[in-house]
Amino acid sequence: MKCYYCKNVIDPEDLELMPKKDKQKNIKYKKDGTIDFHTCHKTCIQEKQIYKQKWENLDNYIKEKFFNIAVPARMYMLLKELHIEADIIQKCFESIENNLLSYISKKVFKDDVAKANYIFGALKNNINTFNENYQKQLINEKIKSESEYEVINTANSISFEFKAPKSINKLTLDFLC
Ligand SMILES: [Zn+2]
Repeated sequence: MKCYYCKNVIDPEDLELMPKKDKQKNIKYKKDGTIDFHTCHKTCIQEKQIYKQKWENLDNYIKEKFFNIAVPARMYMLLKELHIEADIIQKCFESIENNLLSYISKKVFKDDVAKANYIFGALKNNINTFNENYQKQLINEKIKSESEYEVINTANSISFEFKAPKSINKLTLDFLC
């Protein structure tokens, strides 16, 4: 028996059944009327739930900060292409939030998609540096917690520079590369 998510073999004690769902999120039934299940590792289901929760948090954050009602679907298409975890994306947004909001307030966007492009451009200009520093910080924290005689390094706190995207045209070209 293999896991629906990671495709590895499942030991019986790690098995959890997850009902299959159709596109409308309705539970699927087998011909005999019983629920049709995916077989999964318990840990894979938990990871999937954490992943989903992180994206929901990010969605709420972006909606609340930058858009009034709905976030254009394009925003998520672009964010998913980064292949970076949603909580790291959110932390990066938070680090440039004040500057980004002040830039946005001074600009007129022709629609929400143009605004999404701009917001994504600002994130993209900052995310790689942010992520590198964030990963370094995680490693440092791990080393610190593992070390009995730790030396507290106050110099490694993270600071970030806001880089606004130059123009939406430039952004569009970046996406094509
Ligand atoms: Zn698995």
